[in-house]
Amino acid sequence: MLTCKEQVARSSDYLDGQLTFRERLLVRHHLMFCPNCRRFIRQMRLMQATLRILPDDPVKDVDALAQRLAAERLKDQKGGE
Ligand SMILES: [Zn+2]
Repeated sequence: MLTCKEQVARSSDYLDGQLTFRERLLVRHHLMFCPNCRRFIRQMRLMQATLRILPDDPVKDVDALAQRLAAERLKDQKGGE
């Protein structure tokens, strides 16, 4: 099993779908048993989603943005790991 350090080092590639099949299995296996890394991955995924949503221009409609972020968060919770 991966250590948490090894897990964290792979997190970004895991979320980007850059890992080999074998490494994905290792990561999934670790996540199954490690609540801390699960939380870490979830926050990282949320952060990536946030970055995707954020416009390049200064935000004019903050309410609309907040709603989209809330929707992403909901989706993330439903999606599981
Ligand atoms: Zn861990």
